Amino acid sequence: MLQDVLDPEKCRGLLKEALQATRNCEDLYLQKGQGTGAAVLTRSGKIYRAGHKSRASGNKTHAEVLALNISIEADNKDPIIALALISSNPKAKDMHWYPCGHCRQEFIDHLLYLRKNGLVDSDYDITIICGRPDLTYKTHSLKELLPYSWEPADKGD
Ligand SMILES: [Zn+2]
Repeated sequence: MLQDVLDPEKCRGLLKEALQATRNCEDLYLQKGQGTGAAVLTRSGKIYRAGHKSRASGNKTHAEVLALNISIEADNKDPIIALALISSNPKAKDMHWYPCGHCRQEFIDHLLYLRKNGLVDSDYDITIICGRPDLTYKTHSLKELLPYSWEPADKGD
């Protein structure tokens, strides 16, 4: 199983990348360098990271979706095996940081696309590493975090 490569050292390493990505957050309501950071690990071992962006226009791009999209732009045939998520907001220092419901569905959509195009097997899943700034964490599978996700009628079967 691909997820077996995610030993504690690898998980903490990904969380460190996510924490560094919070330096790239842009949020008018938070101090510079505060916010959510994400790092995704792909099957080939590449890591892409991003901090969230919150604009006065009302547009928000959550860090995990930005990291997902950056990885897709780099190589759309290299599936993500893990997402690490963390917040550098001091008010969240005791919280394991989880993806919001919208972002969970975005990652499910990514899985469905990969499956429909034969890039992964039907049981393929993504490991979500929900971290705190002290690099402690909880892990879940994506399907565990969103068990009854929306799926299109035509799954390409
Ligand atoms: Zn989100």
